[in-house]
Amino acid sequence: MSLFQRLQEGLAKTRMALSRSLDRITGRALDPAAREELEAALLASDIGVRTVSKLMDRIREEGPAAEQVRVLLRAAVLDTLQAGQREPIDRQITNSSKPFIMLAVGVNGVGKTTTVAKLAQRLKQAGLTVLLVAADTFRAAAIEQLELWGGRIGVDVIRHKQGADPSAVVFDGVAAAKARGVDAVLIDTAGRLHTKANLMEELKKVKRVLARELPGAPHEVLLVLDGTVGQNALSQARQFHEAVGVTGIALTKLDGTARGGVVVAIAEELKIPVRLIGVGESADDLQDFDAPAFADALFGKD
Ligand code: GDP
Repeated sequence: MSLFQRLQEGLAKTRMALSRSLDRITGRALDPAAREELEAALLASDIGVRTVSKLMDRIREEGPAAEQVRVLLRAAVLDTLQAGQREPIDRQITNSSKPFIMLAVGVNGVGKTTTVAKLAQRLKQAGLTVLLVAADTFRAAAIEQLELWGGRIGVDVIRHKQGADPSAVVFDGVAAAKARGVDAVLIDTAGRLHTKANLMEELKKVKRVLARELPGAPHEVLLVLDGTVGQNALSQARQFHEAVGVTGIALTKLDGTARGGVVVAIAEELKIPVRLIGVGESADDLQDFDAPAFADALFGKD
């Protein structure tokens, strides 16, 4: 199965619900009842209240024929998703000064460690040298998991003991990267501490240490979000963005029963581009975000 097919499968439920609603209004005048039905279907797709009201305003203003509604919706959502998109991350790293530092953040269980490892493998395959940094010192299992991945894909992992100061691990990671002249440093961070305030303070400190040790770093703050959780992902994005300034999103588990529409809500409200998507548990299951393919997966092909 191609990655796009997997993405299509993952978003099938959302697409079917939207499609059913669009089919029902086709051939009818776009009267208030039809509009209400469409609005409910859009809200259920997780693209967010703000996006939905913007879309419904446009539909009211432009008054498209029912057959044109799908086209209008797809184009509008595509515009939102394309805002702020940059070159693919391996090209970004190749064109950046060395070492390129990426801080991966996100709550536990979203697929942060897996995504970091997948990206490390991809960069390595592209001929870049990579270091992994185990800055989730809260859980021993997190350090072990990253080491396991490092061993599997043949990438070194900088680590300290459980309970160590994450900023100290990060400091060592940057020093090692400079000494070895590596291209990219990917930092895995904690997703949970005793309190959320603690976590955000810790991440801010890590960011400060990075900026101090390497002006311009981190070059990317990648927020990892679970594509199956729906609206909760939006509140996670708000919190991490406020604390550490997220520059890109990796959306995982789009091979499952995804509710990936939420990335539209995030792009609309926070203007953060989705950069990568996870479509499985193995090291190869990572792809660049493709906005047109995603819009197709949500609304069907034109
Ligand atoms: P972390 O706590 O955020 O570091 O999350 P992990 O990387 O440990 O991943 C949590 C679980 O999600 C693991 O069982 C992963 O195999 C799984 N996972 C991560 N990414 C994906 C994905 O794209 N698709 C699927 N199906 N599972 C994933």
